[in-house]
Amino acid sequence: MTKIPNVYNAEPIPEAALEAVTQLLSSADLFRYTAPENAPVSLLEQEFAEMMGTKFALAVSSCSAALFLSLKALDLPREARVLIPAFTFAAVPSAVVHAECIPVLVECNDNYRINMDDFAAKLPDADAVLISHMRGHTSDMDAIMALCDAAGIPVVEDAAHSLGTTWNGRKIGTIGKIGCFSFQSYKMINAGEGGILITDDADLVARAIIMSGAYEHMWTKHAIPTEAMERWQNLLPLYNLRLSNLSAAIIRPQLPELARRVRDGLRNHDHVAARLNTSPNLDVPAPLSAEKRAPDSIQFNLVDMNDEQVDAFAKLTAERGMKVQIFGKSVDNARAFWNWQFLGDTPELPTTRTMLMRACDVRLPARLTVEECDVIADIILGAAQSVASQSAA
Ligand SMILES: *Cc1c(COP(=O)(O)O)cnc(C)c1O
Repeated sequence: MTKIPNVYNAEPIPEAALEAVTQLLSSADLFRYTAPENAPVSLLEQEFAEMMGTKFALAVSSCSAALFLSLKALDLPREARVLIPAFTFAAVPSAVVHAECIPVLVECNDNYRINMDDFAAKLPDADAVLISHMRGHTSDMDAIMALCDAAGIPVVEDAAHSLGTTWNGRKIGTIGKIGCFSFQSYKMINAGEGGILITDDADLVARAIIMSGAYEHMWTKHAIPTEAMERWQNLLPLYNLRLSNLSAAIIRPQLPELARRVRDGLRNHDHVAARLNTSPNLDVPAPLSAEKRAPDSIQFNLVDMNDEQVDAFAKLTAERGMKVQIFGKSVDNARAFWNWQFLGDTPELPTTRTMLMRACDVRLPARLTVEECDVIADIILGAAQSVASQSAA
């Protein structure tokens, strides 16, 4: 019988990383700006930009750092209002606060995507928009870009969980002015920590390069027009959010693995989704029609269950060895907006709150086999059925 998989275990790092790391340990050349050229971080930036089809990439210490630098690069005034979805990870409003801006939370629907009516209503008072494609669920980028372009409001994409996702064939992260990605261990490419931002705008990336910690003339080691860099020389603070060569050496050999991981992740997700959708008590929302996803987890809603049944479902899955997290039910969940108390008074957002009280989260990494996915689906389906039949009796 197939064992219950540990969904937090990572896939082994490709062997090529070992050689690159060994070389770095013997040269001890860990700082990205020491070598005159071809430092692993610089090579990563070139390879990532090429893979995404963008002009520029800047590798940094995390996706949160990339989000923060993106907002700083936009040169927003202090206390600028930045729209973010109310369903996201606490790091996103935190990046906005870090950039001395004010996050304005927008309602999300029970398909986990931005509610466009609330978005359109809040846009007139906004200075920038940060679209977090939470858990890789893409909001309606056509509608968002049309509204933002008409209003002249810049869009940053938090694509931390969307590497490999496309929208009408376009890569997510290339639709807004800047796209940000994460190399934290629970994302498609795992370096423990790390992030990268991409853009076609030379001035934006020039500003981000300096603020990331390219002091003095370190920027000469970036492939970027000199005029753009000279415009900002000595005018910007240095936040020192650089990536280490060690991390880049671990990331680079994983780039060729991405297509396979995306393919297997989607296979696993769609297999489990089809099975869960056979239950009257479980609903996996469909992707939007323009969207081709790259999931490494699955989200589904509990349907026609009262609070007690929801609690019983969570308890049963845990007892049976596959803990299902219900975003709004698990204590201190960093994805439940009412726990972002660092914002002061969090707003009342009934649509998002209702969704979070029924939305479940299960990791489904690409490395799982279909048999292992079936074990997970069996536990979830079995628990839903037990809870439904108990309360019917
Ligand atoms: C993981 C994640 C982040 C934060 O990424 P870090 O690299 O850990 O800073 C931000 N947004 C979303 C949607 C994420 O999934």
